[in-house]
Amino acid sequence: SLSPAGSFAPSFANVLVRARPPLPSEASYGHCARTDGKKVVLTTETEAPGRGKRLKAVECQYDKVLGIQAGQEEVWGIAMPVVNKALDGYNVTIFTYGMTGSGKTYTMLGPALMDSAFEGQVTSSDLIAKDEHRGVVVRTMQYLFQQAPEAQIFLSYVQIYQERCYDLLQPPNVPSKPLKVREDPQKKPGQNVNVFVEDLSEVRVGNLEECLEYLMAGFGNVALRSTHYNEQSSRAHCILTLTLRQQLPDQRIRESKLRLVDLAGNERWVIHGPQISPQHARELATINKSLHILGSCLQTLSQPVTTNRRGQELVKHVPYRDSTLTQLLRDSLAGNSYTLMICTICCSILYQMQTLSTLRFADRVK
Ligand code: ADP
Ligand code: MG
Repeated sequence: SLSPAGSFAPSFANVLVRARPPLPSEASYGHCARTDGKKVVLTTETEAPGRGKRLKAVECQYDKVLGIQAGQEEVWGIAMPVVNKALDGYNVTIFTYGMTGSGKTYTMLGPALMDSAFEGQVTSSDLIAKDEHRGVVVRTMQYLFQQAPEAQIFLSYVQIYQERCYDLLQPPNVPSKPLKVREDPQKKPGQNVNVFVEDLSEVRVGNLEECLEYLMAGFGNVALRSTHYNEQSSRAHCILTLTLRQQLPDQRIRESKLRLVDLAGNERWVIHGPQISPQHARELATINKSLHILGSCLQTLSQPVTTNRRGQELVKHVPYRDSTLTQLLRDSLAGNSYTLMICTICCSILYQMQTLSTLRFADRVK
């Protein structure tokens, strides 16, 4: 299980695999993946010289698997206990991981909010009252204001593109200047390293409507940035951070961070063939590297603490500093924190290799 080492109750899902329904464009192709309770069965075709094509089935088990019929409500059923941990004072991160087009943003935001970036007619009350397909982020916000009306809630929203960090609460300037990620030099021995983004906007949100307005504005800036700079937003990580400040009965203030992360698509460039541009190649290399480092950090954190012959705990080396993403998420991955990884897949045979790669990642961090 993921962090904190071993302290997850057995019923907790750390890794959820979600398959999205086929799109009309995929309808005429076959399936390569089947979901069933806690497992995914993936059929791959291998061709051995002289022996023709053979089918091979790979079966993988996860904490939880949701098939194509599962709605947003069911995803929330799995995310909610993790969000509860943030209300209890832990730092929490919920990720979506998968190839572009597999439903990461749909799972996080839902279709109405995704449309709002282009149509601008969706209001926060539409999202609350009418959108039955609203995603994890919207439901989380609703839940927090419902469950902790006394808490102070702060919001920030960043995009990491090519290892550079941008403020999504600010309209994109041309040229836009990346923000600096810094480590607090005041660290005392034994204390967690405090990482912060210089000059990042953080707004206090007083109610759900206001919170949703910032979410929509920030998501709108993802679309704006991609048109301004001719960037593919699918090649960027988006991190929404909600900081909860709660006053305990003994007057102490307890602060926890809840991070909702829509990761860049894990692409495989072989399928794009030789026509891939040098810029595209660079971008994919950077994304693959940062996703790989995320996987390494999660995998290292999930391994049990080892001791030496004298029974002293050995300090694990977690490669947080190797990517901007893990550097920023450091305080919510290490120590007293909970993580939910939602891996999204498409069952179509068209994306067989990408699905295999997503399932392998999920397997590695589970
Ligand atoms: P990603 O963010 O991984 O690139 P999207 O969330 O943009 O993928 O989803 C790609 C397309 O598939 C969108 O048109 C979206 O509406 C649709 N889609 C994704 N997941 C689902 C789902 N669970 N149910 C119905 N449609 C979905
Ligand atoms: Mg997306």
